[in-house]
Amino acid sequence: METVTIKNLKDFEGQEVKINGWVYNRRSIGKVWFLILRDGTGLLQCVVVDGECDLESFQLEQNLNQEDSVSVTGVVKKEPRAVGGFELGVKNIDVINHTSNEYPISNKEHGTDFLMSNRHLWIRSKRQNSILRIRHQIIKSIRDFFDNNDFILVDSPIFTGNAVEGTTTLFELKYFEKKAYLTQSGQLYQEAGAMAFGKSYCFGPVFRAEKSKTRRHLTEFWMVEPEMSYCDLNQNMDWMESLVTYIIDEVLKHCQSELIVLERNIDKLEAVKSPFPRITYDEAVDILKQNNIEFTYGKDFGASDETAISNQYESPVMIHSWPVDTKAFYMKRDEINNNLALGVDMIAPEGYGEIVGGGQREDNIDILIETIRHHDLPLKPFEWYLDLRKYGSVPHSGFGLGLERFVAWVCGTKHIRETIPFPRTMARLEP
Ligand code: ATP
Ligand code: MN
Repeated sequence: METVTIKNLKDFEGQEVKINGWVYNRRSIGKVWFLILRDGTGLLQCVVVDGECDLESFQLEQNLNQEDSVSVTGVVKKEPRAVGGFELGVKNIDVINHTSNEYPISNKEHGTDFLMSNRHLWIRSKRQNSILRIRHQIIKSIRDFFDNNDFILVDSPIFTGNAVEGTTTLFELKYFEKKAYLTQSGQLYQEAGAMAFGKSYCFGPVFRAEKSKTRRHLTEFWMVEPEMSYCDLNQNMDWMESLVTYIIDEVLKHCQSELIVLERNIDKLEAVKSPFPRITYDEAVDILKQNNIEFTYGKDFGASDETAISNQYESPVMIHSWPVDTKAFYMKRDEINNNLALGVDMIAPEGYGEIVGGGQREDNIDILIETIRHHDLPLKPFEWYLDLRKYGSVPHSGFGLGLERFVAWVCGTKHIRETIPFPRTMARLEP
């Protein structure tokens, strides 16, 4: 007899199989009772009929608790009314572990803080399970996209000697006799990667000591950062757009049942289509003006500004050509208007905010040295970075896509903490 998973039951219609899982729920109607089994790949209704299974298994009904682990054998039957289209006619139930204590997460309402403290168990529940499955699909799609387009994975280090995105959100630590920091972004190393391989990317955790408690910020999050040589701002936006449409298409292809569990409005995701609108910072400011939203020119957009701008469109909008002071030291300046930096942010629809930040990099060594000084940064740790401009410098661009913000948008979850298995925020380091 084969041991199978619920997801693959359709290949075993009419056969006797064994499924290893956990008790999700059970209910009784006299001579028949139903065990709803969970195995991590799906849910299955198992029908336990007096006389059709062994007596010991039939009598288990009163003795099974939620999340008891069980191995169930039975015959796979087509049942259009059941979730997944199949049910199991039970022959035997083997209890692996009977949970003597009541499982902390029941069907009644629990507060989010309680659920977060039980995150190690909460991820078994239907909604959280679906979000993390979609996260898995998004990660796979990202890797496939770069693989299909000849990017080479160049892992950036996590311990670093210098800041990338400003010193206010740096985690500092003791590194033998020196100070080190946890990386905020792998980008600078990807610039070396792009010069070595043409196109490279890294995909790993980054760390920012975010003191503000917003629903969009974690202290540890995952970012994918591609970098392309011989690539200008517009070509960079082409890459951003094709990556995002590829991921959305793949999620729609492979995650329909998860999106249904999440009650996600799928029409909104299907409406995401190339080409995405591309507007300048100035044009974005005009949109705010037209909507009577107060805004100081020269500032970065706040969450409510981003929502007002993105509400104009069905697809994500790319805002480019920013006032120089809003962007990091490595951004290239617009050759026609020196007050503008060739940065670009992509804002997701439906109020999910900035999901990608990127731009064309400064490739002139003299200008770069000047801006490092202007930002009050020490030159010494950037010597290797300046080498990239000394030896065969070329126009190059790249971007960083924040995985959790992207998952939040795709899943339609309001808070980013549900989009990563074990979130880290200022207030939470456990579980
Ligand atoms: P914000 O202004 O929203 O804090 P940022 O300008 O600091 O974002 P970037 O430095 O451009 O963001 O980082 C690239 C991407 O990483 C962002 O577009 C976003 O998707 C993601 N990101 C940034 N900070 C966080 C965070 N604290 N938690 C989760 N994702 C983040
Ligand atoms: Mn930030």
